[in-house]
Amino acid sequence: MNPNFLQTPIVYLKGVGPNRAEILKSELGIESFGDLLQFYPNRYLDKTHYYKIAQLKDSGADVQIVGKVIHLKTVEQKRGKRLVATFVDDTGQMELVWFRSQKWIRENLKLNVPYVVFGRINKYGSSFSMPHPEMELLEAHQAGLKVVMQPIYPSTEKLSNSGITNKVISKLIQQLFFETKGNFAETLTQHLLSELKLLPKSEALLNIHFPKNQELLAKAQYRLKFEELFFVQLQLLNKKTVRKHKIKGLPFDQVGALFNDFFQNHLPFDLTNAQKRVIKEIRNDLGSSAQMNRLLQGDVGSGKTIVALMCMLLAIDNDFQACLMAPTEILANQHFNGLKDLLQGMSIKMALLTGSTKKSERTFLHNQLENGNLNILVGTHALLEDKVQFKNLGLAIIDEQHRFGVAQRSKLWKKNDLPPHILVMTATPIPRTLAMSLYGDLDISVIDELPPGRKPIKTVHRYDANRLKVFRFIKDEVKKGRQIYIVYPLIQESEALDYKDLMDGYESIAREFSLPDYQISIVHGKMKAEDKDYEMERFVRGETQIMVATTVIEVGVNVPNASVMIIESAERFGLSQLHQLRGRVGRGAEQSYCILMTSHKLSNDAKTRLETMVRTNDGFEIAEVDLKLRGPGDLMGTQQSGLLNLKIADIVKDNQILKAARYHALQFLKKDPKMENPENNVVRSAYAELFRDNAIWGYIS
Ligand code: ADP
Ligand code: MG
Repeated sequence: MNPNFLQTPIVYLKGVGPNRAEILKSELGIESFGDLLQFYPNRYLDKTHYYKIAQLKDSGADVQIVGKVIHLKTVEQKRGKRLVATFVDDTGQMELVWFRSQKWIRENLKLNVPYVVFGRINKYGSSFSMPHPEMELLEAHQAGLKVVMQPIYPSTEKLSNSGITNKVISKLIQQLFFETKGNFAETLTQHLLSELKLLPKSEALLNIHFPKNQELLAKAQYRLKFEELFFVQLQLLNKKTVRKHKIKGLPFDQVGALFNDFFQNHLPFDLTNAQKRVIKEIRNDLGSSAQMNRLLQGDVGSGKTIVALMCMLLAIDNDFQACLMAPTEILANQHFNGLKDLLQGMSIKMALLTGSTKKSERTFLHNQLENGNLNILVGTHALLEDKVQFKNLGLAIIDEQHRFGVAQRSKLWKKNDLPPHILVMTATPIPRTLAMSLYGDLDISVIDELPPGRKPIKTVHRYDANRLKVFRFIKDEVKKGRQIYIVYPLIQESEALDYKDLMDGYESIAREFSLPDYQISIVHGKMKAEDKDYEMERFVRGETQIMVATTVIEVGVNVPNASVMIIESAERFGLSQLHQLRGRVGRGAEQSYCILMTSHKLSNDAKTRLETMVRTNDGFEIAEVDLKLRGPGDLMGTQQSGLLNLKIADIVKDNQILKAARYHALQFLKKDPKMENPENNVVRSAYAELFRDNAIWGYIS
């Protein structure tokens, strides 16, 4: 086969032509022979199974029925004529309908002879019809039952309206096989094929489009999914290698006085094993000659802050500055105060920079940064402004990555001649294999252990009607000296309504929990920063018992005495958000609770989310459910990784294949990092072909 054959524009395929080419392109993105070849069926129909008319249930099902046409008539309509056949079997009757080719059907269709009809059914009231069925005389059908499983290709309304039916697609693909004699270039090495017992490429393609039997179909699917994921992994791993070799890092070769002093004299608790392991991983990176880009995953409350601090001390020990960036002002404040406490008695100069830092203070701060007097700068994205210049930024830490984009990360890179080491911390865990696959450009560390002595949070789901009981519970907890969060949703699209809910809720809570017995704080996004801080501070100091808030408190806030998290309209929150919110409690020694309040009207997804929250506290388990519910599209990084454009594999459902693909891609590159070995030629050329438009070598700019 001519190697460029698959790049031939689809218009040149026999049976296509300019009109169909246009539709294939606009509806399915099929522009070349190769695109068509990789347009895979999304399901298969068992052609050995026949329905009875009385068994038909829903519109839209593809069915195959044996029966006879007993009557044929033309019906005049405003929009034109249609041909209608009455089709019967021994259980009932239905209609077959044609809008096109009526003359041909009229002349060729035989009455009272058994046919097998195949097509998609529509339901009208209690009767069924099938537009444009595929028909075959039963006799012929039985004689030549070649296709046991009929592939069903994804379709659109426009496609079927323009006559590009499933059958047509199948025909076009047949034509491709005919022109190539079914020979397609192999893309995996002989070694991989035999080690994994994979079908050869041509056989896999044949069986994905024209399966001979179930077993071969399954093998074809496995082979093609594996191949697809294997190449994505190769690309991600290559990106990483390119980065490691091209980007020189700032050497942090000393573990110095500050790090040791802190470790020996100031650490308020023993580190968990997970924390120790992660610090070691980061230290290895920092000591190597390459720039670090590391993602630190750890469930809420797993203790990422102390890890961040110890890394910053390493930077300072090596005469570099460090910064810590948080997504909200409240959180930046909290980090600043928390770090200040931890660093008491050590001579480290640290400052806070947020949107509300006064101008005079700012000017001073800028100077201190530039002349190197400041060791640590904590702040919000105010840190990213061009005016903020460091003398020698060595380490940038970003907390809660999902609020920041790739663009912001790259802004940080430019704060120094050599890019600083970057540590991204996130409490939105995603399954590890998936993480490794998505963030090919980041190394990953995981804190998979909570500090000792935490009592698991008890989570319950309550309906709004039970509110009085919930209020009583709050009172009991406050009596015990605890503090309570009550959180309202704030969704951008319904902002005005949401604020009304929040204020209504606040009023009724203020009535129920009145002064002087109760003090209430309220925090929401429309307040001035200083008012927010003031309210937050009162709650942190324990002067107020109840904090009514929107999700501004979602990330990071740490009030160990707070033991109850009440989430209003919990059905409106996503799973990861619910989990984040719940993570605000359970930080002290007391038993903590999370109460999910909802109305009675719940969608199935909402029910699953609530049940999951009640069932488990495990962030990784929750992340898996979330992924299944929402798909990977919302996860950070998926857009860039190319994992969303997969043609056959599904990174969630095919997680096992993904693991295998990653493993084998790693082995492959370990043995032949530049793909120079002649044995690996097939992979090399397939790779070049796949990523021909993808300038990965210019990836770092
Ligand atoms: P997160 O990972 O959510 O940012 P934090 O760093 O805020 O978690 O830590 C949560 C709480 O756990 C803090 O109060 C912190 O002081 C405490 N903590 C962290 N590590 C340990 C540990 N090894 N032992 C005991 N408490 C710890
Ligand atoms: Mg945190």
